[in-house]
Amino acid sequence: MDLGLSPEQLALQARARAFAREVARPRAAAIDASEQYPWDIVKALTDAGFVGMTIPPALGGQGRSFLDAVLVIEEMAKCCTVTARIVVETNMGAISTVLAYGTEEQKKLAAALVLAGDKPAICITEPDAGSDATALTTRADKRGDTYLINGRKHWITGGGVSRLHLIFARVFDEKGQELGISGFLAVRDEGRNEPKGLRVVRREQTMGLRGMPEGELVFENLELPAAMALVPPSGFRRGFADLMNAYNSQRVGAGTVAMGIAAGALELGVDWVKERAQFGRPIGEFQGLQWMLADMQMQLTAARLMLYQAARSRGKDSAFPDPMLAAQAKLFASESAIRIVNDALQLFGARGYSRELPLERMARDVRMFTIGGGTAQVLRTLVAGRMLGWKLPQTRDGYAQDQARPLAAE
Ligand code: FAD
Repeated sequence: MDLGLSPEQLALQARARAFAREVARPRAAAIDASEQYPWDIVKALTDAGFVGMTIPPALGGQGRSFLDAVLVIEEMAKCCTVTARIVVETNMGAISTVLAYGTEEQKKLAAALVLAGDKPAICITEPDAGSDATALTTRADKRGDTYLINGRKHWITGGGVSRLHLIFARVFDEKGQELGISGFLAVRDEGRNEPKGLRVVRREQTMGLRGMPEGELVFENLELPAAMALVPPSGFRRGFADLMNAYNSQRVGAGTVAMGIAAGALELGVDWVKERAQFGRPIGEFQGLQWMLADMQMQLTAARLMLYQAARSRGKDSAFPDPMLAAQAKLFASESAIRIVNDALQLFGARGYSRELPLERMARDVRMFTIGGGTAQVLRTLVAGRMLGWKLPQTRDGYAQDQARPLAAE
């Protein structure tokens, strides 16, 4: 099937497929069982040039597109979800944000860390600020040439293993005047127990994706040079929207991990229904299963096309995927993937329920992608808001933000 990929992209995809099958797949079950971050896989990905692919050549990267990254992520996700997530976060997300809005020094710092295999951590979510990220209370107080950061974040992917941290905080000037929300870069060095004031206090006990730690972080008078503030051109006041816009690449990446898990599960299912016989014939001869296979394939194809389209798109005046396309693609891919993996597991009967096969691991792993990176409900709200021309979600008093009329009156 011609999906408009160049010979170079097909070669990259083939190289990623070989890596995933030979290096990632044999480790996937042990990574899940041990719940240890796979440093051996990080090294192998780094040596193979699958980290920092989207970093421009001037900073030591390959200047590859988001679509190139998507091709690699899908292949990894078919075999090992944690490996795929490392590829997402070393090519999209925080690194994209720094490359878009950082100073030259910040870009060099982030590029060098990522190209050496670091998976940056994005620190937005707080105990009382989840979907409503603008409710965050972590604060950055200006003190001369530094900022003092105080607050608490949870569900931070890479907490305890990441070096580069992109921390979102509410900024206050020296007079205590609030300026808006901005990002701050901190580099953690576990060996030296630095920087002082940044502590990883807890690891979440997750359902799946167990080789990737989700950490709770506390900042206590974390002192960062003012030069570590990541301020988009629109400044502190409107900067949060710009910083979140960079998240659209991460959304495409997360949707691709979900789609890749589903593709991997479906491949296993197709092989199995040809092999397993009941009632004197391969179970794939039963129309009940054939229709399941067709539905799974159809959803997979649609998800893949939406993700490719989003990866290829650019938002207005932006270097990132179009927000509408990215939201729709992540939403559709993550919800479809849960159904596809569930059905693939069903094809195996009791064997699908066994921990000896990867289906149960895939079912646990894939469940996350309608939650992290914008829940399915919040993404629907984003899509509907754009359709209506309103800034949603609705606020507590029943008015859409920035609207003078109650929504109920519409
Ligand atoms: P809540 O906001 O409390 O939502 C609870 C429920 O209410 C959800 O179903 C939600 O969809 C629904 N809801 C909320 N508001 C609305 C609304 N207006 N309309 C309709 N429904 C609504 N965060 C980071 O900052 N960095 C990370 O690296 C990171 N990694 C993560 C990794 C994993 C594995 C997971 C599970 C989460 C991660 N998160 C991370 C946090 C993630 O972004 C949040 O979980 C997510 O934003 C939802 O917030 P919440 O969990 O507090 O849910």
